[in-house]
Amino acid sequence: MKIAVIGTGYVGLVTGTCFAESGNEVTCIDKDARKIQTLEQGQLPIYEPGLEELVKRNRREERLRFTTDLPSGIGPAQLVFIAVGTPQSADGSADLSTVWAVSDAIAAHVNGPKVVIIKSTVPVGTNRAVAERLAKAEHAVDVASNPEFLKEGAAIEDCMKPDRVVVGVRRPEVGEVLRELYAPFLRTERPFLVMSPESAEMTKYAANAMLATKISYINEMANLCERMGADVNDVRRGIGHDARIGFQFLFPGAGYGGSCFPKDIRALISMSQQLDVRAPIMEAVDQVNEAQKQVLVRKIKGHYGDGLRGKTLAVWGLAFKPRTDDIREAPALALIDALLAEGVRLRVHDPEAMPNVKAIYGDKLVYCDRPYGALEGAHGLAIVTEWQEFRNPDFEVMRRLLQERVIFDGRNLYEPHVPVGYGFTYHSIGRKSGVP
Ligand code: NAD
Repeated sequence: MKIAVIGTGYVGLVTGTCFAESGNEVTCIDKDARKIQTLEQGQLPIYEPGLEELVKRNRREERLRFTTDLPSGIGPAQLVFIAVGTPQSADGSADLSTVWAVSDAIAAHVNGPKVVIIKSTVPVGTNRAVAERLAKAEHAVDVASNPEFLKEGAAIEDCMKPDRVVVGVRRPEVGEVLRELYAPFLRTERPFLVMSPESAEMTKYAANAMLATKISYINEMANLCERMGADVNDVRRGIGHDARIGFQFLFPGAGYGGSCFPKDIRALISMSQQLDVRAPIMEAVDQVNEAQKQVLVRKIKGHYGDGLRGKTLAVWGLAFKPRTDDIREAPALALIDALLAEGVRLRVHDPEAMPNVKAIYGDKLVYCDRPYGALEGAHGLAIVTEWQEFRNPDFEVMRRLLQERVIFDGRNLYEPHVPVGYGFTYHSIGRKSGVP
């Protein structure tokens, strides 16, 4: 099939590349000329494991190309995916200005019958509104909804082997075209679910709301455990073996971030407010998470008391989660802001996200290429992202490099007795602090 993908970000670039990998001819379109230039030079504007190799191969085989020119990009396409950003606007609702702009541009340039597929996460009713805009076009255009469920850091795997594919269509024939497109990814009997566009739009929000709820739930339990002298890891194991509960997404930490959960929960709250329906669970999930982003700040203040100003702390992990360079709404940024405001000097390290952090903070932080480098002369270490390489550090080296042996672990990476055995004071989430 001939496909255009408008918006070449984390979602558009990955899905466009995966469609090319299964034999389609794909044009990825973006208004960001620098991004397109980078891609045309064979480089990636984002970090996503495994993506570079796939982009290179499909470019070489001329199934994947990049352009800033929307009319020529959509010209030959039978299917046009919209994968632009839908960030949070000032009032908490989803900002759809880019979706409208792109829809109008498609309407103005469409040169034959096409299916326009909304992959961006959009409020319920957006499909209908886009269809109304496209009704002005000279050719018949179907509008489908096809929410994306990929996870940054595992996006290729999620795209090639999705748990399910959800499409929202008004005409069954459109569903069949999309079924054919996705067939190569669903060979292991994963379901292809066809529903109304409204249900498909809501499915995306309901999925993210459930996942965010699990995180805020376990964080609330963790905070209770800590005060009650219980260990949240034991409690987690104790409940996870119940098949009705399970283990997934029940890891306590320093709060969720990223480009999806925070804004999608708030968009859902905003949708419910517009309908005059209360959504107290969603409001609580957001509030718990905002508070949880301050959990390490509270522990750090509690540890140093009045002596915090002028201290130097090391921070391991800046991306909102491992295996990505994405720092949108990352808990590490909340920690950095709070500590800078307290007059703390920060030496930070992240395997992939440092350029993005540097673009915001400039020389307010010291950027260290290696995790141990960040520890040199610091009075303690805060861990905010659970990158694999932080899980088994050399505590002997760490104790030599740090001025004070204290770790604030926002991701519960260690069994407390291990760092304590090396003389560290060890603060983690939902567990008693370990003191040597
Ligand atoms: P992104 O910010 O990484 O990418 C969006 C891209 O759209 C950018 O490259 C931007 O330059 C481009 N763009 C903006 N306006 C444009 C225009 N007028 N014409 C052409 N291109 C334009 O965003 P993302 O993370 O890929 O997310 C895209 C959508 O997918 C959002 O709705 C998001 O909620 C949803 N989503 C994201 C993820 C994720 O993990 N990132 C997962 C599932 C769903």
